[in-house]
Amino acid sequence: MPKALAFPIMEMQSSANVAWSMYPGLSHGAYSAIHAHGSDEQKATYLPKLVSGEWTGTMCLTEPHCGTDLGLLKTRAEPNDDGSYRITGTKIFISAGEHDLSDNIIHLVLARLPDAPKDVKGISLFIVPKFHADGRRNGVYCGSPGTQNGHQGQRHGGA
Ligand SMILES: Cc1cc2nc3c(=O)[nH]c(=O)nc-3n(C[C@H](O)[C@H](O)[C@H](O)COP(=O)(O)OP(=O)(O)OC[C@H]3O[C@@H](n4cnc5c(N)ncnc54)[C@H](O)[C@@H]3O)c2cc1C
Repeated sequence: MPKALAFPIMEMQSSANVAWSMYPGLSHGAYSAIHAHGSDEQKATYLPKLVSGEWTGTMCLTEPHCGTDLGLLKTRAEPNDDGSYRITGTKIFISAGEHDLSDNIIHLVLARLPDAPKDVKGISLFIVPKFHADGRRNGVYCGSPGTQNGHQGQRHGGA
């Protein structure tokens, strides 16, 4: 849908329930990132269900010690032999990071490769699904659900 038509719908959603409108908003962000930068296989796996709403998306940037200054982020991504990556680290404030509104949650996670430069140029983006496409549970867990007044902790330990 062209943005000019989407905006009136978004305004209605936000006016009715801004908290709920975060869910389609974050899914839209995940969709746009994968659509622009994902492989054909990633697009085929993730985009149709993000569009239908069966799966929702997140953006996992913030860590306990860094929000604005993402150059300090510590989450690590180590390559596995099969082409996937093992991600370890802790994120906080992840909106829509854990819930049961959808069958799966597709986290887009900022992390650093072992040989990456120290600043923001060394940050890469990884797709970390709560459930793999074959249904296996990935090792990403919400350690501490929060409210708008509290912290959310999210540990990413999956590949
Ligand atoms: C409701 C809510 C939802 C959120 N959802 C998500 C989410 O889905 N995913 C996610 O990754 N994060 C999320 N966040 C986190 C959000 O992105 C961070 O709070 C934000 O990036 C700011 O980081 P911080 O809170 O650590 O503040 P800080 O980085 O500590 O900043 C505090 C203040 O210092 C200023 N400041 C910081 N560094 C500098 C500098 N070098 N020079 C000058 N001024 C500076 C900032 O402008 C700000 O005014 C959410 C936060 C909230 C409140």
